[in-house]
Amino acid sequence: MEIKKGIGVSPGVVISTAIVLDAEDLAIPRRHIEPQQVDQEIKRFQDALDKSLVELNDLRAAVTVKYSKEIGGIFDFHIGILKDPSLFEPVVSAIRNQKVTAEYAVSVVLRRFASNFQAMSDRYLADRVKDIYDIERRILHNVIGLKQESLGQLTYDAVVIARDLLPSQTAALDRTHIKGFATDVGGRTSHTAIVARALGIPAVVGLGNLTAEVSSGDTIIIDGNRGVVIINPDDDQLVEHREYERKREAIEIELKELQNLPAVTKDGHVISLQANIEFPEEVNDAVARGAAGIGLYRTEFLYMASASEPTEEDHYRAHADALKRLDGRPLVIRTLDLGADKYTQAKQVVPERNPFLGDRSIRMCLHNIPMFKRQLRAIMRATVLGDVRIMFPMISTLMELRQAKMILNDVVEELEDEGLPFRRDIPVGMMIEVPSAALMANQFAREVNFFSIGTNDLVQYTLAVDRTNEKVAGLFCPAHPAVLTLLRDVIRAGHRNSISVSVCGEMAGEPLYTLLLLGLGLTIFSMNSPDIGEVKKIIRSTTLEHARQVARRVMSFDSERQVLHFLREETRKIIPEVF
Ligand code: PEP
Ligand code: MG
Repeated sequence: MEIKKGIGVSPGVVISTAIVLDAEDLAIPRRHIEPQQVDQEIKRFQDALDKSLVELNDLRAAVTVKYSKEIGGIFDFHIGILKDPSLFEPVVSAIRNQKVTAEYAVSVVLRRFASNFQAMSDRYLADRVKDIYDIERRILHNVIGLKQESLGQLTYDAVVIARDLLPSQTAALDRTHIKGFATDVGGRTSHTAIVARALGIPAVVGLGNLTAEVSSGDTIIIDGNRGVVIINPDDDQLVEHREYERKREAIEIELKELQNLPAVTKDGHVISLQANIEFPEEVNDAVARGAAGIGLYRTEFLYMASASEPTEEDHYRAHADALKRLDGRPLVIRTLDLGADKYTQAKQVVPERNPFLGDRSIRMCLHNIPMFKRQLRAIMRATVLGDVRIMFPMISTLMELRQAKMILNDVVEELEDEGLPFRRDIPVGMMIEVPSAALMANQFAREVNFFSIGTNDLVQYTLAVDRTNEKVAGLFCPAHPAVLTLLRDVIRAGHRNSISVSVCGEMAGEPLYTLLLLGLGLTIFSMNSPDIGEVKKIIRSTTLEHARQVARRVMSFDSERQVLHFLREETRKIIPEVF
């Protein structure tokens, strides 16, 4: 038994079987296999080798056509290594004799190749070490990728243990059987955390080298409340955690009773509780949990889930599907927010040094107008199918917003010329998630129909804290007075200019902040659907007047500690079972 402490990012407790996931570009922990698994591992290696060869031959052909035979020839070296028995035999022998996984054997053998090349006095050959790393990455990707596909069809419940979960990995998971996540890295608003909360399953991140200590098949307790993971727990711990699981189920049953009741304060103020989704299928759960609509549809996950870029028709079909499920309720479609944590840097020719400050989100779209237009065309075409609203992410200057709107206008004209039906009068809004946009909210408010505050990025950029870095997770705090001042001012700017304002960052679904946001004048909250019940319970148990008093008091504090302490006390009075 071993207890590991990390950061609890999605509540709940689960006891289940581990599946350890490796990912590209990562150290592959040494992991043993049973003798009867040897043939299966060798087959995984052989399949990955075959797949890599097909990829490289395709690549060589494409590059030869596009550039020249000489440039295409660069891949001859890679193909030669893949066909070389001095790669195949040592890998197979390591699997057979040392009883290790295919990925571990590939990694060890190719690392040995790399160090041999590096030691060569011939400059040309020494430089080939980069090619060896490239070959290693390709084979590993295929070994691991082939294994991951089976995660899409599990026959048993399991928890996923990974270094970090890439969006493409979570997209491929069998959501009915995955009961929890635990990762080596990450923070409260990293992708893993958001997906876990959206699925309503416990998650702990920032666990250091957990992947090296757990083997697939181990029994694991993931305690998302306390931020603890227990590897192969003893009987006492199993009893204690089963008891907790039972209590939590009782709370869920109580919250379920609120599902069909409105989110209205005791003094009659109606609040709109909406849901954040990544896939159209999530709409059903959101509506079942009482969401009044979708306040944030993260469309980039459609993009990340497939190997090739989605076509206009792919986008259109996804939107049409979501709108059908929504049956008239609003759908805020956020345009592509790729980059940074939502795009593996490995896919870039030259990885960015500071991806969060780099070519991400709206910037990437403005640099790739054909891709952007494809998405906008699909969104506009979907406007005749329901209540569609468009939202641009990561806007940091007025010029960016104007450019994005101009491209939208071009798309409108194109559709008109083509005689395709669409609705012209749809609301166009923007996310406020960069301090420059928050500080200029008054100017922006004159040019959009709504704001949605993305606190995940707003906190990150205001406090200079990487939202995915576990080392600084303790500094990531929406309760920081600087963040709260920006929030208050953006809500005020929205009201002053008669445009609606919502919060769609994780803060909106945290019961701790409900009273404060309500008191600051927020009327639209968009969150992961499992959070709707608790937030609704608080709203229905208070008055707007009381929430305003809470907000006034909070805004008088000058440290996040005071804010958190006070909010905890006030919220505990309303839902003691949660705090
Ligand atoms: C945010 O930044 O708060 C947000 C909602 O967007 P994402 O988490 O997708 O970056
Ligand atoms: Mg964001």
